[in-house]
Amino acid sequence: MSGHASRVAAIESVANMGPVETQFPFKDEPTSKLWGANVFSLTMMSQRLPKSVYKSLKQTIETGGKLDPTTADAVAEAMKTWALEHGATHYAHVFYPLTGLTAEKHDSFFDPTSDGGTIAQFSGGTLIQGEPDGSSFPSGGIRATFEARGYTIWDVTSPAYIMQNPNGATLCIPTAFVSWTGEALDKKTPVLRSMQSLNEQAQRVLKFFGNDGAFVSSTAGAEQEYFLIDKSFYYSRPDLMAAKRTLFGCPPPKGQEFDDHYFGAIPERVLACMFEAERELFKLGIPAKTRHNEVAPGQFEIAPVFEFGNVATDHQQLIMVTLQRVAEKYGLICLLHEKPFAGVNGSGKHLNFSMGSAKAGNLFDPGDTPAENAQFLVFCAAMIRAVYTWAPLLRAVVASASNDHRLGANEAPPAILSIFLGAELNEVFESIAAGKSIKSKKGTLSVGVDVLPPIPKHSGDRNRTSPMAFTGNRFEFRAVGSSQSIAGPLVAMNTIMAESLDYCAAILEKADTSTPAKLGKAVEKIIKDVWKECSKVVFNGDGYSEAWHKEAEKRGLPNLKTSADALPVLKTPDVTNLFKKFNVLSKREMVSRYEVYAEQYIATVNVESNLVIEMVRTLIFPAAVRYQNELATSLANLKSIGVETDHNTIDIITGLIKSLQDSTAELVELKDKEHSAKSVEKHCEFIRDEILPKMLEIRGYVDQLEGYVADDLWPLPTYQEMLFIK
Ligand code: ADP
Ligand code: MG
Repeated sequence: MSGHASRVAAIESVANMGPVETQFPFKDEPTSKLWGANVFSLTMMSQRLPKSVYKSLKQTIETGGKLDPTTADAVAEAMKTWALEHGATHYAHVFYPLTGLTAEKHDSFFDPTSDGGTIAQFSGGTLIQGEPDGSSFPSGGIRATFEARGYTIWDVTSPAYIMQNPNGATLCIPTAFVSWTGEALDKKTPVLRSMQSLNEQAQRVLKFFGNDGAFVSSTAGAEQEYFLIDKSFYYSRPDLMAAKRTLFGCPPPKGQEFDDHYFGAIPERVLACMFEAERELFKLGIPAKTRHNEVAPGQFEIAPVFEFGNVATDHQQLIMVTLQRVAEKYGLICLLHEKPFAGVNGSGKHLNFSMGSAKAGNLFDPGDTPAENAQFLVFCAAMIRAVYTWAPLLRAVVASASNDHRLGANEAPPAILSIFLGAELNEVFESIAAGKSIKSKKGTLSVGVDVLPPIPKHSGDRNRTSPMAFTGNRFEFRAVGSSQSIAGPLVAMNTIMAESLDYCAAILEKADTSTPAKLGKAVEKIIKDVWKECSKVVFNGDGYSEAWHKEAEKRGLPNLKTSADALPVLKTPDVTNLFKKFNVLSKREMVSRYEVYAEQYIATVNVESNLVIEMVRTLIFPAAVRYQNELATSLANLKSIGVETDHNTIDIITGLIKSLQDSTAELVELKDKEHSAKSVEKHCEFIRDEILPKMLEIRGYVDQLEGYVADDLWPLPTYQEMLFIK
């Protein structure tokens, strides 16, 4: 099929699509019954395990210790029985390699027996430890120097679940993936380690408020933005298929200027797809809560209710997998890329972050008593200090080739890390720091003695220009990219909070805190010191504005614009020492991560630049030349009958074709040079300075041609078609 014919076929297939078929009998399967139906949850375990085994397992989950072998055998047996009842034939250790994707190795439960039969087997040993062939996963050199082998170890704090397929079902066991030396090869291991460190440091602070004892866990709720486009268009765009973003394409005549998509009615096919995706998530015990249209046409959001950080991280991976899997059933493709369409809003994944315990409650909740307020202010001050001190790290953990297109693109938070407190909380900090009275009150606010003035819970959108916004009882990290795992950002937040709480605890431990008023004074000191040193990072204005960029520069805040600038932060001594000190990642593990992420950046752009060259040569150039030829023929014909016309259009086309050829040849040359870069770091910089700008230049010519070449010759589905036809 010619390019244009496939475009027409794509449009026809969408236009002629019948009504959405019912996928399941709703009434037979009420949501209340579906909830967690495929999860081997604590409740399920309490029902199916002997009391002593359940108690031992529960203790392991709560304290994060090691599972003893007899417990493991009993759990495995119960889990197997449960899984077989649910139709499972296989089990899989699921792990989270540094690619940010989800990986699994499936094994059958069934072993042949000597009498020609078969028996379902699953031991404790198999449950708690697996040995996938991990050699094809990136390790940044960690395994190369030792042994290629890696092990998967069950994360008892994240429940096992069943993934259904029309032809079978698999018991999935969430695991950490480590080398035989115990070094982390994955995204989960540092999440678990950083949760431990955060807890340890939080306990030291909470002791002063009588709230220590119960495990303090970070909580995370990630709002996932994504695009849905018709499958037919997707398969007519080699760039979308291979790079997950369009490398060419004019902005549509009608864009998002009317804001008519945001919170608008959801198209029926899309809604049907969402319903099914949510049902699947419900079965997996994932509390999908809100859904709505996003700013851009064809863009949507799904947000689950928050959970403990490590569970939320696993569930977020499942949300991405499920959205993509279910979308295909409805003839749609779910695009998780941060910037699939230039000039159209990109997609992020707001990471809502808080921390708390059964005893202390949510630590970012201001509370109603003077004591609760004092505790809240310490945790908030710790956060402000953490974001100020570790801003470059926070930028580095959201760095990727794809997120670079979104950050700072006038729609997403800039690459400058700042923190939004809101007017009320800002005033509280400012007044305490300056020893001034608060407007609404008589006299000076005394920490630990007075109650704070009310601090409203912001509906997020009021401050969507801030990369880190306080929203009343949590912080929202908005720079996270839509396609990335939240593990990296969560590990960073946990760890920098641990470091800041360590700082606060040290002050409290030295101070006289024998009475509430004295404790209040010590807290005041923390606030004053933090505000003096770190309030530069607080910004409550419009983060998209040019004025803020200038202001931030004046304040000396770092602005690491691209991944090439940000990723090297991961291997700076400050950062490697931080992670080492809090037992999250060793220096070797950190450096290996830098290498993997930098290689990913290089590989991503490499695929894109290959695509640019191929698409220009085989799709764009031929279309332009055909059109040029049509124009030339027409001009010659006119001339032969004595009609003189101007040459404007053919001159423009000819000029663009020439520029296209030259710039593409230049890109080929640059790519030849690229590989002589002396180091990974230099290679990334070369991509930033040479390759990407050249790709953008080429795009400029292609997009201009799209505006001239006859529509029936244009080979690629247009933005208009992809974003609006559903
Ligand atoms: P908005 O669009 O205003 O940011 P949403 O309802 O779309 O709000 O998303 C808010 C997210 O924040 C949800 O995932 C919610 O569960 C999460 N959240 C709420 N409280 C907390 C908390 N204490 N810790 C972590 N996440 C939280
Ligand atoms: Mg939000």
